[in-house]
Amino acid sequence: MNDSMRRAAAILLVILGGAALWWAGSGAAASASANDAMVATIAAARERAAANDPRLKGASRFEEGGWIYLHLEGDPGAMGYQHGYLLAPEIEDAFAAVSAGMMHSTERDWEFFRKAAHEMLWPKIDVEYQQELRGIVEGLRARTGSNLDVDDLVAFNAFEELPDYYVPWLNKQQKMAEAPELKSPGNCSAFVATGSWTKDGLIVMAHNNWTSYRNGERWRIVFDIAPKNGYRILMDGFPGVIASDDDFGINSDGLMVTETTITQFEGWDPNGKAEFVRARKALQYAGSIDEYKEIMLEGNNGGYANDWLLGDRKTGEIAQLELGLKAHKLWRTKDGVLAGSNWARDPQVLKEDAPQFDPINKESSPNARRARWDELLKENKGKIDVVLAEKMLGDHSDTAQKKEEANERTLCGHVDGSPRGVKEWEWQPYYPGGAVQGKATDAKMAKEMRIMARMGHPCGGDFLAKPFLAAHPEYAWQEPYLRDMKAGPWTEFRSGQAPKE
Ligand SMILES: [Zn+2]
Repeated sequence: MNDSMRRAAAILLVILGGAALWWAGSGAAASASANDAMVATIAAARERAAANDPRLKGASRFEEGGWIYLHLEGDPGAMGYQHGYLLAPEIEDAFAAVSAGMMHSTERDWEFFRKAAHEMLWPKIDVEYQQELRGIVEGLRARTGSNLDVDDLVAFNAFEELPDYYVPWLNKQQKMAEAPELKSPGNCSAFVATGSWTKDGLIVMAHNNWTSYRNGERWRIVFDIAPKNGYRILMDGFPGVIASDDDFGINSDGLMVTETTITQFEGWDPNGKAEFVRARKALQYAGSIDEYKEIMLEGNNGGYANDWLLGDRKTGEIAQLELGLKAHKLWRTKDGVLAGSNWARDPQVLKEDAPQFDPINKESSPNARRARWDELLKENKGKIDVVLAEKMLGDHSDTAQKKEEANERTLCGHVDGSPRGVKEWEWQPYYPGGAVQGKATDAKMAKEMRIMARMGHPCGGDFLAKPFLAAHPEYAWQEPYLRDMKAGPWTEFRSGQAPKE
């Protein structure tokens, strides 16, 4: 027991004693409200004691433009405690929404995911991230008295990789009859450009995050991380998750990182290291494209397999790391543009890791967006900057129909408006998902650790849950978790930022 815990325990004893005396003197009718009052008093005392914890020193949080900015600093355990404490209500809320989705799609109970986290993932997590994850649980419990434990948190951190990579692999291994159809997700539209493609000849990077609106509306954290070891990080992220996970981030040694996932990826290595751990580690410790590749490959488990789009502002070089499980490939250039919209391009990766994907069909979301990136980036060669990148992330040109219409094939995705859905990801017609936020930065901004970010559809459109659910009762199961997703303004965030007075 440390000092702060002793202090908290002492406060609790005093309160409990007082409540018991008062209880003895009151009538039975008052017992329910007395009990409520006691619970509230204990909770308040716990929060006061937790707020005095020395691990919170230096950490802070504020809200702007629809985002929550969170500054974490120190050793891994302290950063975890700060994260858990300062985002406690958001973590509990996000955990409820995410775990419901994981159980719904896989038809597995939560105990299944806890077991996978405990037995398969936890032993391979680096010690510093184990400490950080434990810290999150401690901070969360100190603030709200949450029942979540570290197995819950690890399963939750792996929400992109357990349900859509591990479970389909396991179903196949176990030759499960009547297993639910599960497909790896197709998250995001992104590009990184450099040299003669950009206005100033330096790197420009932009990304919008595609996911369910249920999860996406909660993907509203800007993490400013000053770790004891490794580089300073500025990234967007999800409450309670230690990696950016969608992904968009920069580090103080000059690395700029984003990605889009590989559609219809298949494969999993149960002996590998969780993707969320490798992705966080690479952003924290890689100072070059080669180091990034090395960290991502070490223990590659095939989870959340991405086309990583990278920039090194020190050299002006950009790269694409197509990270399959059986195959991978790296392209790099100091004069070019690399775009992603959830399609693998290396023949070997396609053959071995995404054999079902059809790279020809112009009607599919990944291929239609690929064609649009080609057009849009070529049209704007030599003019690309952050302002233009923000506009591109909100683009609604559908190359398959050759018209303007926000749908599942546009860079700014609105699948809730599409009678087709996205069959490659098992997104049924009118699936409430699409582009949920956007970010952009360039080499100059990255040097000053600055990014632009917009919450909600990057085009500025709003999603309203109530009319949607009324029109689409097939998604009624999401009702407890599906909220309005209103677009905020493009907002600048920087490392070490203080809230506006
Ligand atoms: Zn849009």
